[in-house]
Amino acid sequence: MRVLVVEDEPKIASFIQKGLQEEHYAVDLAFDGEEALDWASMAEYDLIVLDILLPKRNGISVCRELRQRGIRAPILMLTAKDTVDDRVTGLDSGADDYLVKPFAFRELVARLRALARRPPEVHGPVLQVADLQLDTVNHRVTRAGRSIELTPNEYSLLEFLMRHPNQILSRTVIGEHVWNYDFYSQSNIVDVYIRYLRRKLDYGFTPPLIHTIRGVGYRLSGTCDDTMA
Ligand code: CA
Repeated sequence: MRVLVVEDEPKIASFIQKGLQEEHYAVDLAFDGEEALDWASMAEYDLIVLDILLPKRNGISVCRELRQRGIRAPILMLTAKDTVDDRVTGLDSGADDYLVKPFAFRELVARLRALARRPPEVHGPVLQVADLQLDTVNHRVTRAGRSIELTPNEYSLLEFLMRHPNQILSRTVIGEHVWNYDFYSQSNIVDVYIRYLRRKLDYGFTPPLIHTIRGVGYRLSGTCDDTMA
């Protein structure tokens, strides 16, 4: 899951970034409202954490602009003051949830998890494809009941695939959602990590779940219907 964090206070920004990376999110940071809009127009984010008090353009105005541009990623607003006005204005500008500073990091993560499972696809905390399960709360992955150890990057890739089962996903789309700006442009990173995942998830199990769609990308599915390839 790729997250844009918009926060002008460097300490808080890097605290959030580090914490989210530990939770296997790919994180980009923006430090003012204009930069936030630039990032959001360059990449497709799964979640946006948006501070209200920002230089150049405040979070409310950024939020309105994002929605006007048709960007539908769930937005969690951070507000310094817990006033009803602030919360109402934030939600009315198109935010999905808000959190009052100072906040417990655990709560930020729990709220992001909740936002990530909102429609269009309604997910519980455990994602399942065939006999493969991924628990987004404790990051446990099992296949046919057997526990599988994944690195953070492998986990992020698998989570993205499991949130889009049976869909053909191009390398670009996968790369953009799983890695942050610093990494996803490395040309073969997606193929490399797919290979790692296959080794752990598919070797020794049937049927294979990760399917290569030649010239296009990959599809995670419990059925072997590759006829459209
Ligand atoms: Ca601020």
